[in-house]
Formats: sequence, structure tokens, C-alpha cells
Amino acid sequence: MSGQVIAHLDLDAFYVSVELRRRPELQGRPVYVGGRHRGVVLSASYQARARGIRSAMPSVTARRLCPDAIALAPDMEEYVEASKAVFAILDTVTDVVEGASVDEAYLDLTRTRTRLGRPEDVLADLRARILGEQGLPSSAGLGPNPFVAKMASREAKPDGLLVVPPQMVTDFLWPLPVDRMWGVGEATADTLHRLGLRTIGDLARTLPATLQRAFGPRQGEKLVELANGRDRRRLMARRPEEHERSIGAQETFPVDVYDPVIVHRELLRLAERTSARLRRARLVGRTITLSLRFANFSSLTRSLTLPEPTDLTDEIHRRAVCLYERLGLQRARVRQVGIRVEGLRDASTVSTQADLFTPEHGWREATAAIDRANLRFGPHAVQRASLTQDW
Ligand SMILES: [Mg+2]
Repeated sequence: MSGQVIAHLDLDAFYVSVELRRRPELQGRPVYVGGRHRGVVLSASYQARARGIRSAMPSVTARRLCPDAIALAPDMEEYVEASKAVFAILDTVTDVVEGASVDEAYLDLTRTRTRLGRPEDVLADLRARILGEQGLPSSAGLGPNPFVAKMASREAKPDGLLVVPPQMVTDFLWPLPVDRMWGVGEATADTLHRLGLRTIGDLARTLPATLQRAFGPRQGEKLVELANGRDRRRLMARRPEEHERSIGAQETFPVDVYDPVIVHRELLRLAERTSARLRRARLVGRTITLSLRFANFSSLTRSLTLPEPTDLTDEIHRRAVCLYERLGLQRARVRQVGIRVEGLRDASTVSTQADLFTPEHGWREATAAIDRANLRFGPHAVQRASLTQDW
């Protein structure tokens, strides 16, 4: 291979695999990690997947599909430990390890050839060490850029290795269904199907103008580039975000506040700060906690847990207002309010099915645009209309 040699390594059913190494008796059974009652499935064994259980599916649905599946409560600390140990192994072969999430990394193997031998052997050896030293199965792909490497590791799953040399890229990609393409979620797949495009090859051969009409100029062009196996992205040596316990913001009023309208407005401001911090850390969270401190310094907190994790201002704001309303405070003198989001997860573990191309995700894009403007011009550059009123 000439040019870049990029590997993508992804642990198979990561949370479940960590659980199975301490409960080997569950090996081969349908097992999933997730909340037992109101939660969602976070990770499912391949036997559970064969019964229709998927990540992000409500646990109730999983139980209905497969009543004999074994549900395990998540143990995030154990997973973070396992993840660190795996990254320590990856670090032994190259300086350029880009953590995409706790269980997934890109590695630049371009320069390891002279020192360590053929990249495919380096990668096979890494997988053997991760299994031998950590008891964790993984899959890996090798290609001339990050996109092809990621697609290869996906197709290699579970417990496989797929090498795609540069001259084989289109032979590999084009027969695959469009909905298997990285970044293509349900909505984009639907639009592509409506355009009569079934395979990545169909997509690669479509006139850019057609796609730009359906997805906008930037996304349309990106779809064609990726479908042709072209990806100019350079890896960055970085860790996956450490799992913080919670992210939030609080504010003390200059004078004690009676008026619920002012509290609502402050909650919007705090929700904006909190969601911007979540997105910067690439985290999403499920538990939203409202805290209030009163003029007499007494305080209280109320929490609720969402069915799906979020990093969106409006969702966080709406829930915080709901918690506040439920308290039925009439004339309480509020001194301080705070919002925290807990139950944090890496955003990329949630958005594996995320749709990067669909314009319907306008709200998320708008939110990202506000984040960018705030970074460039300071936190008050762009605000939602209800915050720009005087009060
Ligand atoms: Mg994985």
C-alpha cells in the first residue's frame, strides 16, 4: 500500500463483553446491558441481536422480544477502566491513536511498517493482545483513509479483520447497501431509496447536482466523496473524553426572585450553558436535576430521567421547567437556581445510527451553529429570542 495506512479498531459489544469476562457462564446467551425498568439497551450480545435486540431500544421492548434475555445493570467505572487498558495497548504501536469513543479508535499505521512489519500483522497482533490481556473481542479494518477503515471494521464484525487496499476500495464499497454507509441514518437512507439508490455504488454514480438538491450543497458533495471512498480527514492523537459524573451550571440572582417568569428565563440560560458544555465534551446525559436555594438558605433538588440521553438546550430547558412547575412554588423567594445533567455517556455511542446528512436535523444544526458563534464572538453573541427581551 502506498499513501496513508489507517486502521479502525472497535471492541465488539463492549459493555456486554466486559460483563462476560467476569460472568463467563453467560457466554453464548442473549445478554444485554441496560436499565432494568425505564432504561434503554446500551449494549447487546450478538445472541441478543439475533433475537432483534438493538442498542438504544427501550428495555421493555427488549424484554418483549426476548423474555429469556439476561439484562445486566451498567457498571460504567468498570467499562472506563477496561477502555483505558485497551488504549494503553493501542499506544504501544503508534503515537497517532484517535479515540472515537470508549470502545473505538483510529490508528495511523503509515509509519509503523519499517519498525513493526506489515500493518495487517500489526493489527492482527493488537487484536490478539486485547483478547489475551483484557479478555475483550474486537474487530478491525484497514484502509487508505479513516472512512474506508471504519467501513471495513464494520463489515468485519464480529471478531474479524478486513483489509481494503487502495485499489480495492470501490470493489469493497459499491456492492454495500446505502444504509450501511457510515453517517447514513434512517432519514437519509429513506431519501436515497426514494431517489432509487440502493447501493453505495448507485450513490457514487449519481450526479452531484441530484444529491445537492436533496441534501444541500455541502452534504450532497460529502455523500459523493465518501461513496467513492475519498476522505481527506487527518487523524488527531487524542483520547476519548473522560467520563465526568455530571455537567451543569448554576446562577445566584443579584436579588431574591419571586417571579416564576424570571426563574423560567434563567433556566433557559442555564440549559444553554449546560448543553453547550455537554456538546463541547461530546457527552449526552439522561438525568436532569434542578436545584433551588431559597432566601432562607434552605435548598431542594428534583430529578427526572429521560428515555433517551440528550444534549439539546430545549429538551433540558423543558424538563427543568417541568420539575420547577411540579414543585408548585407560589411566593417562594429564590436565591439560586441550578441545572445538572447526569448519567453521562459518550455522544458517539448514542449516535452510531445518527444521520449526518439529513437536513431534517435542523434543530441540532442550529444549536451547533449557535455554539460556534458563541465560541467566536463570546457567550452573548447569539441568544434565543426570549432571552433577548429586557427583564
Ligand atoms: Mg464497539
